[in-house]
Amino acid sequence: MKTEIIAVGSELLTPDFQDTNSLFLTTGLNGIGLGVSFKTVVGDDECDLARVFRTALGRSRLILCMGGLGPTEDDRTRETLAKVLGLNLVFRKDILARIRERFRRRGMDMPPSNCKQCYVIEGAEVLDNPNGTAPGLWLAAARHRIALLPGPPREIRPMFENHVLPRLAANGTGLMVRREIRLTGLGESSMESLMKPVYAAVPAGISVTTLASPGDLSIHLTYRGAAPRAAAETSLDGLEKKIREALSPWIYSLNGDNLEAVVGSLLKEKGKTVACAESCTGGLLGHRLTGVPGSSAYFLESAVVYSNAAKTRRLGVPKALLEKHGAVSAAAARAMAVGVRKTSRSDIGLSVTGIAGPDGGTTRKPVGLVYIALAHAKGTAVTRNHFFGGRAQVKAQSSQKALDILRKFLIKGT
Ligand code: AMP
Ligand code: MG
Repeated sequence: MKTEIIAVGSELLTPDFQDTNSLFLTTGLNGIGLGVSFKTVVGDDECDLARVFRTALGRSRLILCMGGLGPTEDDRTRETLAKVLGLNLVFRKDILARIRERFRRRGMDMPPSNCKQCYVIEGAEVLDNPNGTAPGLWLAAARHRIALLPGPPREIRPMFENHVLPRLAANGTGLMVRREIRLTGLGESSMESLMKPVYAAVPAGISVTTLASPGDLSIHLTYRGAAPRAAAETSLDGLEKKIREALSPWIYSLNGDNLEAVVGSLLKEKGKTVACAESCTGGLLGHRLTGVPGSSAYFLESAVVYSNAAKTRRLGVPKALLEKHGAVSAAAARAMAVGVRKTSRSDIGLSVTGIAGPDGGTTRKPVGLVYIALAHAKGTAVTRNHFFGGRAQVKAQSSQKALDILRKFLIKGT
């Protein structure tokens, strides 16, 4: 069943907002064996939206459309689809009663503008929206299945799971099973060379794609076909084993977890706490570590010590040391890691100091030079790294390398 997603909203065509809902919808669709063939983002313009609907009706049998079901004048999805299909809109008193009740519970009267949400395309089923006023619509015509859903993520998610997926399950076209293997510390082209023997032996029905971002690589394995789930999983297991054999020193996750989540689990498992001292990463390490739910169990603090004075005042890094070696030096990194471990009373101190660029580099200390130190009960280890790319890439790679150093330390169990 050709499947298409339409995201409606002029804000999604600006640099400020992204259509994130379609990623969530795609995950759910893939889970029942449906791939997505087309995605369109269209602004709040009736003519443009009508054209998008006509195109979608001509090429896809399942159309999931979100956004534009609100009470304001620019929300025209319902009306536009009705026009394109040549169907009437029918006023539904039960929806009016439900929206009124929703406002009453909040001690308010329903504004007249919400009346437009009480119209339903004739023949459509109404999909209940417990988190908002806009009900969804489900239309099952002879050739098409069409869902209209509200845009806000907290509204669309439960509606998709509770109302749309169950209606689609019967129409699935087989099975899709996905795996994601993640790696760090390896270049993309080196990975490709090491993967050569793996590519030569990919079982039927499985596709392998790789993705790269600064300091991070992921390999996606996707099975699509009609095999029973157990057989698909066995075949994926075999392929995963070959990939592990080829790339194990760099693999940190076999289930798609990011590096901070993997490090978090290890810290929890070992019962260790960590504190960071960040110069060039400016808090990125702390941000990443605290992005993991439950991180309060092991993450104590991150000191953003950008200036030399801050390094001295907050962490006790000797002024003379900074004057002699510079803030970007193995000695400074070491003193920062030891200092933050001591002041925070953590088991592990992790520090980063480097030159993120684009200015500030010299021949001896070029842009991208980053020292990372890890201090623990029995000593301190420092690494000298040279990363390439712009400021954001250097920061991203620095935080990635620091987390990987922490991961390796925790695995070694010292
Ligand atoms: P609407 O249903 O058009 O009134 O959308 C309401 C709000 O939901 C918008 O202002 C966005 O913040 C959010 N939203 C709409 N469409 C999407 C989308 N495709 N992905 C993520 N957020 C969305
Ligand atoms: Mg909108």
